[in-house]
Amino acid sequence: MNLHVQHVLQWMSKTNDKIQANKEYLTSLDQAIGDGDHGINMARGFQEVMTKTEASQYDTVSDLLKDVAMTLLSKVGGASGPLYGTAFLKMSMAVKGHTSVDQPAFTKGVEDALNGILQRGKATVGDKTMIDVWNPILSLLKENESVNAEQLEDAAKHAMESTKDVMAKKGRAAYLKERSIGHLDPGSVSSYYLFSSLAEVMKEGE
Ligand code: ADP
Ligand code: MG
Repeated sequence: MNLHVQHVLQWMSKTNDKIQANKEYLTSLDQAIGDGDHGINMARGFQEVMTKTEASQYDTVSDLLKDVAMTLLSKVGGASGPLYGTAFLKMSMAVKGHTSVDQPAFTKGVEDALNGILQRGKATVGDKTMIDVWNPILSLLKENESVNAEQLEDAAKHAMESTKDVMAKKGRAAYLKERSIGHLDPGSVSSYYLFSSLAEVMKEGE
């Protein structure tokens, strides 16, 4: 892994493509166990991220990630906007000073991002939230010196799918208690798109 500004731009662009293509799907997942706005929230947020980042010039990955964070914080409502916004802000701060982001720097970025999500949302591992994707990705990065695209894709997909059989303990889905079992967590699916997109960028560079 060796991410420069152009790779992170591709990462955001691919994430946006997946979110726009699956907007209705994300909404239907959130209709089942939430209020049905996750697709709309994420599609609006990432469209704004594209508008902002395509109109700007970046010298560092940190500056780019900071703009992603600020855009998501200001443009996305619901629980997911502040949570993703915080995640990207922490990631931006973690990679400050790195002209290219290698795996150790990215691992620190994911660790700080996850801690930001945990602090802001007060949920924990196993509550059926996006944390259940971010946490296994952090473990993968920590436990393997050189993670490749396929490993990242597989881990993110498996983590996302694992949220189906879990009962929600945080977020709107928690109101449904046992009835939340059998449904994927919408925020874990959008987090899967994020890491799957990064895997695609890595694959192009392998
Ligand atoms: P809202 O729940 O406000 O309608 P969204 O529908 O956009 O916001 O996002 C819902 C997703 O946000 C959930 O599927 C879950 O993954 C994530 N989420 C909700 N609450 C929390 C929390 N406290 N901590 C971490 N993630 C959360
Ligand atoms: Mg919702």
